[in-house]
Order: sequence, then C-alpha cells, then structure tokens
Amino acid sequence: MKRNEVNYEELSPMMKQYMDIKKDYEEELLFYRIGDFYELFFEDGLTASRELELTLTGKNAGLEERVPMCGVPFHSVKPYIEKLVNKGYKVAICEQLEDPKNTKGMVKRGVIQVISKGTIADLELLNEHNNHYIATIIDYTYMYTICYADISTGDIFVSNIPHELDKLLSLVLNMGILEVILPNHDDIELIKTLKGTYGIELSFSAEKLTNQYQSIYANIEDAHYIEAIQTLLYYLVVKELKDLSHLKEATIIYEDDYLEMDVHTVRNLELIETLRLKERTFSLLWLIDKTKTSMGSRKIKQWLMHPLKNETKILDRYAKIEKLNTEFILKEQLRDNLYEIYDLERLCGKVTCGSLNGRDLLQLKKSLEVLPEIKRIIDELHFDYPLKTHQKLYELLEKAIYEDPPVTIKEGYLIKEGYNKELDELKSIRSGGKDFIASFENKLKEETGIKNLKVGYNKVFGYYIEVTKGQLQNVSEDFHWERRQTLTNAERYISPELKEKEALILNAEEKIVEMEYNMFLEIKDIVKKELLELKDTADCLATIDALTSLAVCAEEYHLVKPSINHEHIIEIKNGRHPVIEKVSNMEYVANDCIMDASINTLLITGPNMSGKSTYMRQLAIIIILAQMGSFVPASKANLPIIDKIFTRIGASDDLVSGESTFMVEMKEAKNAIVNATEDSLILFDELGRGTATYDGMSLAEAILKYVSTKIRAKTLFSTHYHELTVLEEKIPSIKNVHVSALESDGQITFLHKIKNGAVDKSYGIHVAKLAGLPEDIINDAMHILSVYEKKPLKNKSEEQIQLVMEFPDDNHDELRDKLKEIDPLRITPMEAINTLFALKKISEKERNGE
Ligand code: ADP
Ligand code: MG
Repeated sequence: MKRNEVNYEELSPMMKQYMDIKKDYEEELLFYRIGDFYELFFEDGLTASRELELTLTGKNAGLEERVPMCGVPFHSVKPYIEKLVNKGYKVAICEQLEDPKNTKGMVKRGVIQVISKGTIADLELLNEHNNHYIATIIDYTYMYTICYADISTGDIFVSNIPHELDKLLSLVLNMGILEVILPNHDDIELIKTLKGTYGIELSFSAEKLTNQYQSIYANIEDAHYIEAIQTLLYYLVVKELKDLSHLKEATIIYEDDYLEMDVHTVRNLELIETLRLKERTFSLLWLIDKTKTSMGSRKIKQWLMHPLKNETKILDRYAKIEKLNTEFILKEQLRDNLYEIYDLERLCGKVTCGSLNGRDLLQLKKSLEVLPEIKRIIDELHFDYPLKTHQKLYELLEKAIYEDPPVTIKEGYLIKEGYNKELDELKSIRSGGKDFIASFENKLKEETGIKNLKVGYNKVFGYYIEVTKGQLQNVSEDFHWERRQTLTNAERYISPELKEKEALILNAEEKIVEMEYNMFLEIKDIVKKELLELKDTADCLATIDALTSLAVCAEEYHLVKPSINHEHIIEIKNGRHPVIEKVSNMEYVANDCIMDASINTLLITGPNMSGKSTYMRQLAIIIILAQMGSFVPASKANLPIIDKIFTRIGASDDLVSGESTFMVEMKEAKNAIVNATEDSLILFDELGRGTATYDGMSLAEAILKYVSTKIRAKTLFSTHYHELTVLEEKIPSIKNVHVSALESDGQITFLHKIKNGAVDKSYGIHVAKLAGLPEDIINDAMHILSVYEKKPLKNKSEEQIQLVMEFPDDNHDELRDKLKEIDPLRITPMEAINTLFALKKISEKERNGE
C-alpha cells in the first residue's frame, strides 16, 4: 500500500497527523514517535525494514487493510539512524511535543531535526579523529566559494578557490567533507565526480538564510563568502532544523597561507591513510598523533593537512616543542591532565544539536575540573594561550549533577542532594515511603496476627495488603480495609492509612522526576550561555594537546629541529622515512639529500626495490613535517619554505587504484608543470613509464629539461631510462644520484644508500629471482641477458648463434624474433618478467615439437 493511494478522509486521527507532517518531509525517512517507539509507515517502513533488516508489520490506521509499518525502540534508535544515514538516507525525527499524560486527545507532534551524512551531532555516532564536514559550493564561473562546517564542533570555514575542478576536489577530499549542498543541478561533471567517483552525499538547496545567525559572518565583507554561508545556514536551519547557537564566527581560510598539496600528494605520501588498505594505521598521521584528547587528534590532522608557510608561526611551534622537551616534567603533567579531558568541542555541539544527558554534563564537569592545573602548567611554560578555567560553571556542575546519571533525562537521578531543598524533601518522602512499607507490613502482621500478610505495590491497583484465602477469617471489619482486587487464592485490600501514604509517595516520585528534568534544562541553559567561551577553551586545549604530541614525537622518534633558509637550499643529513623506519623490521638506512641553490633537480637511478620512491617520499614528508611545525627525522635539516608539493608516483605503484592509464599520468604531470613555482617541490617517480619505451623516454627528457630550466622547482626525478643521466652534463641544475645495490654470485643485496652519480644496471632478473620465479627461467634469462650485454643487437654475433643452438629446431624463428624485440637496457622489471614467461612458453612449445 502506497502513501499516495490512501484516502485521507478515511484515516484515523493519528494517521492524519502523520500524513500532515510527512508531506513536508518527502525526501526523508520519517521516524514518527509513538510512545516508546519510532515508527515508519508506508514506503518509509518498507525501506527501513529492508535496510535495517527489521520485520515489516502493519498498523491499524482506520483503513480496511493495515498500513505497512516498521518500528524501532526509542532508546536504541541511534545505531539505526547511523546505518541509514551512512547509506545516504536522510532521517527526520518527529517527536511528541507534549507529555501524553497532560494531554487530552491527540498529542502534538513535530519534526525536531533532520539528520544527514554531514550533520550528525551525537558523539556516539562520530569518529573522534575526524571532523564531520558539510559544505556548500557556489560556482561563480570565475571562481568557487566553499563554506564548510562541522556542526558537532561548531567550526565553520569559508574559502575562495580558483575555478579549477582539481583544486576544488582536492579541498573537498583533503578535508574529508561528507556532504555537499549545491544550489542547482547545472554542473554535471562536478555532480558526477563528487557523488559517482567519491561517494559524497549531495543535496540541493539554493535559498539563503538572511535573518538569523548574522553574527557568524558579522565581520566578513566579501559578498561571496556571505552568500555561501547563508546558503549553508538555510539548509541547516530551515531544512534540517538545527540550532546553531554554538557556531563561532566563520574563519576565512586563505589557501595561499598554507602549503598546497593536491589530493594525489596526500594519498601518495600516505599522510592520513595508506594507499592500499585505506586505513589510518601506518599513515603519517597515525605515527605522529600522540594526542590525549579527540580535539587534539583532530587538530593535529588539520595541521598536517594545512602545513604553514609563515616562518614566524613555524618557528613559534618549534620553540614550544623545544620548551616542552626541556621542561619534560611539566610536559608529563600536562599530558596527564589532558588525559582527563573529554571531547569538549563536541559536548558543546551536543548542547545545542544533540540529545544532551546527565552523563554529558558529568563529562563536562570532569573536563573543567583539571583546567586550573593545565593553566598553571602553561603559565609556568610561559605559553601565551588565553586559557579560561570556567570555575563557576564547574562549581555549579559539581554541586548539581548526580555522579551516576542514567542515559535518559526523564527518569530522575540527575540532580545531587543538597542542590535544591524542595527536591531533597521530596526525596526523603520517597525513601521514607519505601521504609514505611516494610515497617508497615511488620506492624500489620503483629496487629492482625496474620503471619503471611504482605504489603506490596502494583501499577494498576497501587499499594495493597494481601491476605491469602486461608487467612481471610482473620480480617476484621474493625480494620476498615477496603477490598481492592481478588486473586485466585488471595484478596487484596487497602487501608485508610496506606491510602494516605500512597498519595504522598506516588506524588513525590512523579514530582521528583519532573523537577529534576526542569533543573537539568536550567543548567543546560546556563552551559549554553557559556558555549562560545567553552569553544575557545576547547580550541586552546586542542592546540596545546597537538603541540605536546609533536614534542613527544620529537623525543620518541629522535627528530631534529630544522632551520629555515631563503636561498632555495635543501640540506638534509641522515634523513629517514619515519613510518617505514617505525614499521619495517629491517634496519632503516638514513640518507642525505643535498641540493644547494644551483641544483634544483636530482635525477635518481637505481634498480627496482632499491628505495627510489621511498627516498622521494621521505623528502616530501620531511618538508611537510617541518612546515606543520614539527621536528623532522634527520640528524640535520636546513630547508626552504615550500609553497606547493606535487607528486606523480610511477604507474606500477598506482595499479591498485585502477588509475594507471597514461592519460592520468600525463594529467598529473601537467597539473604540476602548470602550477609549480620556483618554491615548489615536485616528485616525478618513473614518469613516462606508462607508454612505449621511446615515447616515454622522450617525454621524460623533455619534461625534465623544462622543469629544471624553466620552472626551477626543486624536483626529484626517478627514472629507469639510464639514457637520461647524460643530461647532467648539459644542464647544470641537474645532478645524478643513484641507489646502490650489491651483486655477488647472482645474488643482489639492496643497500638503500643514495650516492652521487648514475648507475647503469637494472637488476630486473635479480628482482625476478627474489620474486621466486622458477630457477629455469632465471638461468635462461641470465643467459639471454649475457648475450645482449656482450654485443649490441645489430650485429649477428656468434653468441646469438650459440643461443639458438640451445634449441634443436632452428627453423623456428619465433623465439629469435621475440628476442630481437627486447632491449634489456630499456625493459622494466615487470615487462622482463612477462617476457620471460612468454619466452619460456615458446621454448616449451618448441621442445614438444609443436
Ligand atoms: P623503488 O622505488 O626503488 O622500487 P622503494 O622505494 O619502493 O623502491 O623501496 C623498496 C623497499 O625497500 C620498500 O619495501 C622499502 O620499505 C625498502 N626501503 C626503501 N628505502 C629504504 C631505506 N632507506 N632503508 C630501509 N629500507 C628501505
Ligand atoms: Mg618506486
């Protein structure tokens, strides 16, 4: 049965109310609160039962047939909402707006909020390490303006971006934006990429909110920003009914202030997740996140994604790290105290957007408790953070909030004794009442002589005195008991005294719950008034936590403070790749990277598996760490300030992501070449590998020359085209380095050591051997290679004849033809292996006389 097929007039009053509300929430799944359940009807019910694997039942709605229905208990609704939202649905929560107890007829109901992927605010559903951003993007044709907010923390940002899809996407993906609001469906490519390629939730809404929350953009003049903010606010406030009183003033992000990294760089360097498993574990972030709070954890991620370009700010972070590591006792104290702090930012968000409960206020209290101590420590360290301690609020919470509150706020047990006199009195009546029943029972037993008499309580009949049938003759008229209920083998009575007490006790219970609920709301309002200040405190704590984390890393990983130069000099002594060093069970070989002002390009040659890619990544990581304000894995580092990093990692490394086409490779190279400046860093790893040998080599050479002479960006260029190494003689800004390997008795050992000059061996066959190819093939290949190495291909040499003699039937030219095609100097290891297989196959065929 579909919703639009039913006759409204025939529906029950409750279902009419449902229909009235649902018509404003067509797109959303409407969770309709009825008593202790949320119920979904019609198509919503079908969807929910399918997606949540819940039984589909029916509801009597006044029609002949029952309406399809699916229900979830209200106290366990969160995981269900999470599941649906993550699958891309929006959920509208419709609550009872009145207490059914105090209402005659139909309870008023209304939607209190809509939850979509980007606007979850309940802590239990959020990833503590990540911000959950929702964004609007406005396309002004000459640029994009993006506004993104995390309503769980109250942060809101705006930024103008050049009109390039790549740049926009990099920001959206780097920031991990989950949901994007577009004003219209015009930009099909953008829509396809966001939704189709990256699975980002899209919503469409063009209206602007102009008469509320103006303080968010009070100090912003640029009309582009304001339009983007107002569009996002409209969606959040009008469509999703969010209370945004915890949102701070929007921060303008000038992307120019930060080291620019496109999304490929972030991925290739495995800054926040690994390439293969897409997991945080073994990423750089995983390594350096030693924070004690979730706020700090998110802060360090923001720092990593936005390394600085401002030298003063960078040096300030270095100085603080140094200070923390000399005052290591204070550092440890700081960390111990930070450990006590809960997710203040999100607690703040929950005050306005989530379902705040007593436990949250308790967490808030515990967090505030340690603030004076943290303040003392940072004062002692002479750190210039304006940390407030919120002691008044702390005292209030300490006095008011019960130490073990339940999850709901409608059962009482929220408020401590001593906070309110009237409440305390009611409580003593309540507990007095319970004591009273026990003593009353004893008293009655004695007075009546009925030994098995019981005093009890049940929901329907209230308090009663129960006498078994066998003892009925002992109940006297003089007692003035009234009969309440007859059971099969007992009678229940009520006495005047019990009746009186009953009224008092029952009232007390109800009154207590109501009073506690109201007091809770009052306290919540007090917290709400202090929200923006609390948010500043949270931000301050996050910064302190992130810095302390960097200080801990500096100690633990033996990092060194970089110095910064303005002469385009890179001088790294004994640099290391910190993640590989930590994770690999082999000894890590430290390497220098020296590029003085006159050298901008290192051309790196070396066999596969020797460590070329690692060396390149290592440099980029050292620079990113340095500019985010961290010490770096080296024994000495003197670095310039880099404005942008571009990476193009070899096609073979990229196969996993399925992006191995030559076109992608060239597009990424183009992106680097068009955007890089003299202050940029470019990593080109085996560029040109994705096409035919000569093609690729020519392209690689042309690009290398262009980058080194025209752009003059600092560039690491690894290649298996040994021919390129002669460029060193022609272009003074290019320097050859190579990674050495030891070969003895056909075995190869990788030393991972970068040395000056070029190398001329490929060791493809050794790698094939390491990979475990059959002995036969390896021997064959060695033999074939030795033939080529002794003589150039063009001459028909005796070696070749010798080679052919190995095979009985020399009329078969297939093998020889195949061999002629091979140029061992230009073959990649992968091709070598494939070719070997092919050769082997042919030879097998010939042996079998086919
Ligand atoms: P290439 O790019 O030359 O093929 P990689 O950089 O991918 O080589 O490195 C190959 C392997 O060697 C990796 O498993 C890496 O962990 C290891 N490796 C690379 N450089 C070093 C080093 N300096 N010290 C120790 N192991 C290294
Ligand atoms: Mg490599």
